[in-house]
Amino acid sequence: MSDENVYVVGDETSLYQKRQKIFPKIVSGKFNNFRVLSAWLLLGLYYLMPWVTWNGQQAILFDLPARKFQIFGLTFWPQDFIFLTMLLIIAALALFFFTAVAGRLWCGYACPQTVWTEAFLWMERLVEGDRNKQIKLDKAPWSFRKVRLRFTKHVLWILFALFTGYTFVGYFTPIRELTESLWTLSFSGWEWFWILFYSFATWGNAGMLREQVCIYMCPYARFQSSMFDKDTLIIAYDEKRGEKRGARKKSLSKEEYQSEGLGDCIDCMQCVHVCPTGIDIRDGLQYECIACAACIDACDDVMEKMGYEKNLIRYTSENHDAGGELNPFRPKTIGYGLILMLMAAIFVLSVWMRTPLELDIIKDRNRLYLTNSEGFIVNIYKLRVLNKDQSEHTYKISVSGYDGIEYEGPQQVTLSPESTKEVPVRVAIDPYLLKSTSMDIEFQLESIDDKSIEVTQPASFIGPVQRRGR
Ligand code: SF4
Ligand code: SF4
Repeated sequence: MSDENVYVVGDETSLYQKRQKIFPKIVSGKFNNFRVLSAWLLLGLYYLMPWVTWNGQQAILFDLPARKFQIFGLTFWPQDFIFLTMLLIIAALALFFFTAVAGRLWCGYACPQTVWTEAFLWMERLVEGDRNKQIKLDKAPWSFRKVRLRFTKHVLWILFALFTGYTFVGYFTPIRELTESLWTLSFSGWEWFWILFYSFATWGNAGMLREQVCIYMCPYARFQSSMFDKDTLIIAYDEKRGEKRGARKKSLSKEEYQSEGLGDCIDCMQCVHVCPTGIDIRDGLQYECIACAACIDACDDVMEKMGYEKNLIRYTSENHDAGGELNPFRPKTIGYGLILMLMAAIFVLSVWMRTPLELDIIKDRNRLYLTNSEGFIVNIYKLRVLNKDQSEHTYKISVSGYDGIEYEGPQQVTLSPESTKEVPVRVAIDPYLLKSTSMDIEFQLESIDDKSIEVTQPASFIGPVQRRGR
């Protein structure tokens, strides 16, 4: 183990670095506006979506007991697992694409950890004030005021976290039913567990752990560098322009401070004070940087006040820094983009063309076949029909695939929306027509009210081969 991983605490040697508390300063600027807008949009979607109805039903509902997912009028069953697989592939490709083009765009603007931390920081500032007041309060000995402020902050955090946990469960239990249970606190055991667990996770991650989640717990921070290349967009300090850093009088002209060997960085530390992970961007690219761009806004503000050109900290790339052009369209990103679009198109088409009807055929295993009073060979099947649609349908049942095949069973079956039914049926064939002991046949179901809904399933017919005259 290298010495740099061993920390000395008092007389003891610890393997763990003591956490430095971070009090990010409030910042304003165009990237902050974009981040706040993104947070409002994503949090708004999260909290409002369970309340949206579609065709009289909750638009998004992951109904685990019924084993079906409702998404805007489409119902997905365990048999539709392929769509979930496709979605995961699309999400992975999107991550590759956006990381290759714009670095940690996800971390800075859309990651739930960033978005909820933003909300928790907002509540903290509302109660305790901005950075300097928070530092002062933290250092102050315990007093009635300190207890009151800390208590108020945690009450706000916990209420918000509980609302978050309650909304989360509203994606799995119809949220209106959940709300009825809320007034009497009569949630089921699982609902209690998930509301409290998710609330605790929200309070812990966004309120208490914050940057520690990004630095120590998130695996994406560790492997995202493998998706980077020299043209990936990063946030970096312009060292050539900024160094040598140092304080100076605002009245000094560029020529005057440059003649003293100073660059444009006035070493005001604003970029460090606003950083939610507490790093100094001037030390170069670091995995702790979540690319939130707060330091760009802070430094631009300083540059403006000093009358200097902005962009001392800016979006750039390694190649751009070395004098090249920004190059978002390169073989790698074009390749990712094309595959992403192709996969998205296949996904949309597959969902669009999906038949809302499923048919499983279960052959009677007790008897391979039996002979009826007319001497025909009879096979018995159970048709398991699943109507995945949100409307009732009546289906015509038929069987084909072999000359002289006879179907014995109900001609039609009616299923209510999103329901299954098992239909026992028999199929008979003259034994003298059988050419082998196992024949391929097909069952068909066709909706009477909507001809576009039909499904065909193969099955086997088993029986002894007989020859005439024997
Ligand atoms: S905010 Fe800008 S000027 Fe101030 S220390 Fe950071 S880089 Fe230097
Ligand atoms: S260094 Fe800048 S971009 Fe990176 S996390 Fe800190 S403030 Fe955000």
